[in-house]
Amino acid sequence: MAKYKYGFIGAGRMATALATGLVEAQLATADEIIASDPSEAGRAAFAQQVAGCTVDADNAKVSTGSEIVVLSVKPQMMAKVLANLPKSAECTPLFVSIAAGVPLVKLETGLGSSARVVRVMPNTPCLVGRGASGYAGGNHATADDLKCVSELLEAVGIAIELPEYLLDAVTGLSGSGPAFVYTMIEAMSDGGVLAGLPRQVAHQLAVQTVLGSAQMVASTGEHPAALRDAVTSPGGTTIAGLEALEQGGLRAAVVAAVKAAANRSCELG
Ligand code: NAP
Repeated sequence: MAKYKYGFIGAGRMATALATGLVEAQLATADEIIASDPSEAGRAAFAQQVAGCTVDADNAKVSTGSEIVVLSVKPQMMAKVLANLPKSAECTPLFVSIAAGVPLVKLETGLGSSARVVRVMPNTPCLVGRGASGYAGGNHATADDLKCVSELLEAVGIAIELPEYLLDAVTGLSGSGPAFVYTMIEAMSDGGVLAGLPRQVAHQLAVQTVLGSAQMVASTGEHPAALRDAVTSPGGTTIAGLEALEQGGLRAAVVAAVKAAANRSCELG
């Protein structure tokens, strides 16, 4: 019987966000969580945020002592980390990798071909409990394993199970998407300044407009085009702005941005 419910190898930003979400969602108590990290400062920061958890410098303590092991190191560290984990027939945790672009085949090869593995593509809004993640199970992941991963990810946002080949598309949309939206917010703020608003006011209004509009789509379930039509009166201000957006090619640029990011993810994988 594993001593801990959740273990994190790599106690950085994403691990801290997930562990905090688990405790807040009451999926685990802090004393059911362990995290390992070579950096003393990293361990201390994790222990402070997840008060009552265990931290250790030894990754083996996490992999042999946890039911679910979240691999939360940088992708370039993954092969080395996996190679140094003890391989034991007795301890068979579920491994959940959140490392961008590391395919299941590499994880299964590194952990042993019978390992139960799930690969996740999360995004940065997980850090504020509004993440959008896609995940795919490996050859030996069970239905219960996928349910556990879904619960873990839903503690910090939404999660959708997909075949692994679609995780590049997830990377292009929700993985890179926050950067596209930040650019939109910055541009809207610039537009407000151009129209005469002080920068701070323009920034506040742009952020709240994006938040509120996303909430309208999510809460009403309406198609975005229907919501747009509802605020576009004949000969009015909004249609004048929309004309400028279409002339500027915003729609085509956003479609191309998601596709370019997905293609790049595919090349890197
Ligand atoms: P991070 O804050 O840098 O966390 C990684 C942690 O792993 C660091 O504390 C690092 O310590 C530690 N580490 C390095 N070598 C290690 C080893 N051998 N054993 C154990 N721990 C080790 O990175 P992050 O932003 O949380 O990202 C973690 C993973 O999530 C990455 O694979 C990334 O691709 C994925 N991801 C992140 C996001 C995001 O929004 N941040 C989105 C999608 C996917 P040092 O700092 O001392 O090196």
